Amino acid sequence: MIPSSKTIQICRSIQDIRSWRKSLKTQTTVGFVPTMGALHAGHAELLEKIRPHCDFSVLSIFVNPTQFGPKEDLSKYPRTWDSDLKIAEKVGVDVIFAPTSELMYPEGYSTYVEETKLSQPLCGLYRPGHFRGVTTVVFKLLQLVQPQLAYFGLKDAQQFFVLRKMAEDLHLDVSIRGVATVRERDGLAMSSRNIYLSSDERQKAIAISHTLRQIEARYLEKSSTSIQELLAAAQNQIEKRGISPQYFECLELPSLATVKVETSFQETRSYLVAFAGFLGTTRLIDNVILGKHALPSEWFA
Ligand code: AMP
Repeated sequence: MIPSSKTIQICRSIQDIRSWRKSLKTQTTVGFVPTMGALHAGHAELLEKIRPHCDFSVLSIFVNPTQFGPKEDLSKYPRTWDSDLKIAEKVGVDVIFAPTSELMYPEGYSTYVEETKLSQPLCGLYRPGHFRGVTTVVFKLLQLVQPQLAYFGLKDAQQFFVLRKMAEDLHLDVSIRGVATVRERDGLAMSSRNIYLSSDERQKAIAISHTLRQIEARYLEKSSTSIQELLAAAQNQIEKRGISPQYFECLELPSLATVKVETSFQETRSYLVAFAGFLGTTRLIDNVILGKHALPSEWFA
């Protein structure tokens, strides 16, 4: 049950959000941050960053079933409506769109949106159908909210580049921007899934951001070490801490194409160094973007 709010308009149905959007004057700027709830400081950052650029900010809270695989954590995904509402109020959200699965995917639902290149490597390999679920739900949400601006976290960097590509390919009239990853004091990327970690696992998890920082340092000092060697050393370090990597890879940006790992980093190019792996049963992801300066600055908040 979603509690009500004095300051935030809560739209629970397709009709509610459509009526709200139609009530706005044509020139009104709408900013949008889609989430699955269980909000933390990472989500708050997206909402805070978007607020000054729009007349109205819209937050969606929807645990999207189509982006979860059959063996994934859909049913146990944290749902924390009360604290979500407090965070949303604190950062000055105007509207929350919180539909049910039945409304988003009624019986007989059969239409999906799929990006077919950038969604293939990394998480695409290990979570079949995940990005199809993400592009489908984000397309539907953009269609309903019709924002001029939509912010996404670079914590999910592949998701951000896939969604940017979808918006470009489908000529969506929205500016998609990425927001830098918000981290705990010790470097762990904030995630709704961090609550699954035991205190021992939480300690071990620090190794992920730590090794990514080390690779970034090698990049900044223009090290001549090959990408392959850097990745192998990082993977080794992670495994020693009891983390089982699914992937630790370096891809070129914005294409997410394979790079020649035998060579060292080149200053004129941009790279995504991305990690995914398990600590116990919890799957964590993190990444670092190298050479952001070679990407269009308007892609980032
Ligand atoms: P989620 O609810 O986990 O699907 O995330 C909703 C949005 O918040 C996505 O655009 C995420 O990339 C973003 N996000 C999640 N965690 C962080 C973080 N630690 N820093 C920045 N953005 C984040």
